[in-house]
Amino acid sequence: MYRWIWRTLILGWTGLVVGCGDGELTSSAGTVISPSRHKRSDFSGATGDIPAKSAPVEQPQYVLHQARARLIPAVLQVYYNPTDAPAHWDLASMLALLQRTANKWSDVCNVRIEVIGTTGVKPVMQKQSAVDVDGLSVIGWLVFPTDLASFSGNVSWWYRTNADRLPAIVDADMGLNLSRVSRFTGESAALNLGGLLTHEWGHMLGISHSNTSQSVMFAAPYNSYTFQNSLRGDDAAACADLYGAAPHAQAMRVFNWAEQVLPDLLQPLGVSSTLVDGFPTREYSQTGFALQVRAERIYYRPGFQQAWIDLGLVSDWFAVASSQGF
Ligand SMILES: [Zn+2]
Repeated sequence: MYRWIWRTLILGWTGLVVGCGDGELTSSAGTVISPSRHKRSDFSGATGDIPAKSAPVEQPQYVLHQARARLIPAVLQVYYNPTDAPAHWDLASMLALLQRTANKWSDVCNVRIEVIGTTGVKPVMQKQSAVDVDGLSVIGWLVFPTDLASFSGNVSWWYRTNADRLPAIVDADMGLNLSRVSRFTGESAALNLGGLLTHEWGHMLGISHSNTSQSVMFAAPYNSYTFQNSLRGDDAAACADLYGAAPHAQAMRVFNWAEQVLPDLLQPLGVSSTLVDGFPTREYSQTGFALQVRAERIYYRPGFQQAWIDLGLVSDWFAVASSQGF
């Protein structure tokens, strides 16, 4: 961690920062000065779920920050601050949910999010100037300021031009709104918070709101939490644009698609891949169903303790999945 903070300090020194509006680029005295803050607030009241099978398929139309600010290297080490967390979100389940939702992005692109522990430091919302940048990426619960009060989540990050003149995110914080905790309680708590987190992680990686309604990153209006538990093709394309596609991205996108077309079998939603016998696998604990990629072929397991069944080439399935927006 010290090494990371040290690097942040060095980058800060080489890439002088000024505070200015979202995405605004300024320069002075021949120095490349990075633009500064970036915030995304999420979940006003409206939600608009669009069933995958009935909605028109749109072309990828994701939106990135204009400077293409991103994690360099492509690893985000982030802490969780459990202070004020709703009682039913005990530390272990919250850390697990954070990592699991983050891993959905690693399934499709070459970026890694490491939830490495807890901190007492609060996330800094609405970073206005360099003094708000502590180099510590934090997720935590807090009451949002008035102008963000109607949102459930908010991400604010800061980037600096590094020694290679690349725009590197050096501090990304995610706030979860304590005033809207009721959305994350009850039967669908994990699904709802998981959906919100999946969307917010996209921002933490440098992805803005997409223009494509069939995407997790769409926000006009926001899709439902259920919708946001499987990444769409537009989300995968956005992340791959910044970080490159993950080695098994096509298979993972087929799995994302399968979760939408086989909703009864692939439960619970919000699963990310783990290695089983060395192969990337999604296991669905409610049904025992599992999907696996092995040597460019997709396999499924119809239930607990059952044999794997070959479904054919990843590329054939990916053609189907991508044509349906995954
Ligand atoms: Zn958002």
